[in-house]
Amino acid sequence: MGCPTLFVRLSGCNLRCSFCDTRSAWEDGEELPVPNILTAVEELRKDAPTEWICLTGGEPLTQNIRPLVESLKKKGYSIQIETNGTLPSVSSVDWITLSPKPPDYVIHPGCLIPLREAKLVVTRELTEEIIHDVRTRIPAGVPLFLQPQSMEKWSLRKAEQLLRSCLNAHPADIRLGLQLHLLYDIR
Ligand code: SF4
Repeated sequence: MGCPTLFVRLSGCNLRCSFCDTRSAWEDGEELPVPNILTAVEELRKDAPTEWICLTGGEPLTQNIRPLVESLKKKGYSIQIETNGTLPSVSSVDWITLSPKPPDYVIHPGCLIPLREAKLVVTRELTEEIIHDVRTRIPAGVPLFLQPQSMEKWSLRKAEQLLRSCLNAHPADIRLGLQLHLLYDIR
């Protein structure tokens, strides 16, 4: 968290979460060839020098991201993907951020390598039991962040309460998360 990163938002998602804050990514979007995306990334990078590119959505794994990932890797970038965890990933990415979604919190075994972090949106329905269940399905040592829903106050409070009640069972592996780009108003 906090590492300068350029985001490439891919269109399409196989879920329809009621709390989704990127609904524009469900359907909108423009089909772009990989070279055009590379050019756009290089252009953005002039103002934001960083090696990290995050492929997000929507759900980036609803598209065949392998050609894009391989082209970005050839240029020397490190690739993170943000995924809801329902689909298998591609092996050449450097960092997977997994965010399983209700009601089933599906975690496809093909998106666990290289899993570096997981997060759960703190919805009104999220419970300690769900957190425990997800925690037991991801590898020890991978932190699980409780991310307040759209940084709303009730969700921030609930995240803290849930963290306190989970601490005895999972003292090191559950943490409070934040959407830094909302705090800093970064677009
Ligand atoms: S998985 Fe993510 S992008 Fe898809 S509907 Fe849910 S919150 Fe929105």
